[in-house]
Amino acid sequence: MQNNILVINCGSSSVKFSLINPTTNHVLISGLVEQLHSAHATISIKQEANKQQSHLPAPYDHLMAIKFFVEVLDDKQLTSTIYAIGHRVVHGGETYNKPVLISIAVKHEIHRLSTLAPLHNPANLLGIEAAEKALGQLPQVAVFDTSFHQSMPKKAFLYALPYELYKNHGIRKYGFHGTSHYYVAHKAAQYLNKPIETCNLISAHLGNGCSVTAIKNGKSVDTSLGLTPLEGLMMGTRTGNLDPSIIFHLVDQLGYTLDQVNTLLNKESGLKGISMLSNDCRTLEEAAEQGHDLAKLALDMFCYRAAKMIASFSVCFSQLDSIVFTGGIGENSSFIRENIIEQLTLLNISINNNANIEARFGKSGNIATSTSIPCWVIPTDEEGVIATQTHQLVAKEVK
Ligand code: AMP
Repeated sequence: MQNNILVINCGSSSVKFSLINPTTNHVLISGLVEQLHSAHATISIKQEANKQQSHLPAPYDHLMAIKFFVEVLDDKQLTSTIYAIGHRVVHGGETYNKPVLISIAVKHEIHRLSTLAPLHNPANLLGIEAAEKALGQLPQVAVFDTSFHQSMPKKAFLYALPYELYKNHGIRKYGFHGTSHYYVAHKAAQYLNKPIETCNLISAHLGNGCSVTAIKNGKSVDTSLGLTPLEGLMMGTRTGNLDPSIIFHLVDQLGYTLDQVNTLLNKESGLKGISMLSNDCRTLEEAAEQGHDLAKLALDMFCYRAAKMIASFSVCFSQLDSIVFTGGIGENSSFIRENIIEQLTLLNISINNNANIEARFGKSGNIATSTSIPCWVIPTDEEGVIATQTHQLVAKEVK
């Protein structure tokens, strides 16, 4: 029976696949091809408890990776169960505030928006075109990382630059991680037993990329990532906020090229840059415990900046229902959550240490004390949202 959704998430050097039943959200099989275009490409396939990893014999591109996964699905007689394909697309600009059926016009628009996301949209398009070639007969849907934030008001999304740069060139805050913030907000509403339309939340997606979103009456009203995923919080390798004049100083006084500055801010900064050790939070927690001063400093900065962003978003509300933590760090690091929450006492937020230890490794939970504003830990499920939204749109629009 054709009732499953194939979710495809293409990066520049990797492709993630999940075959999901959108009614139960059960993942039947998932796969990840990494190091595309290199001699060291690998594929991992996970089906229930079975996990296999193998090296690919030659450099693979997006089309080869997708065809390989389709062959795996063929072998398991699962290809014929696919009902539609859902793609994660990073930038939908101001054009898309919800998922859309992919057509030639939509592909042109995703291509046009590549100027705003040069690392991501071209890879997403490659994935769409590869899936068309491999599974051409099936409807395809684009689900955008930016859509959820299209509800932000102008006062939140504009930069204090000449207005014509927004009008003529679309320079504004778009925000990212929208699918994740959307998912945890809806889950939080269930846990709080309130309709999403009445929920006021601040959600913190803390992973390798990090963002905080203010969600008022179920809608995004501000978020920390900007025109690109570089603004806002300190991240694994990205700076987050900094004085823009540092860029002039690096170029004019220290002789950096703009390419070098780009690499510095995106790939060599954040946790990695400060610790001079790693971008990986787990590694840094272990190192800090063993007395590594720069690892400890990097973690302290990470938490201080996250707490400061959360506190700053309190201006969006007169009443707050919950803070929500998600992402690899937000879901698993009791250390980071405790450090952040300890800096939010003025917002009437305090931590329950036992609950904080409990809510890890895939377990949800309210980690605040009974007198505090609730703080929910909620494992995110971006693939599940893409599957559900793809299913709903195709059921409605494809007869
Ligand atoms: P993501 O980008 O959402 O996959 O998150 C990746 C980040 O989550 C990395 O910095 C990991 O070190 C971090 N992470 C995953 N598990 C843990 C854990 N148990 N404790 C601390 N950090 C973790």
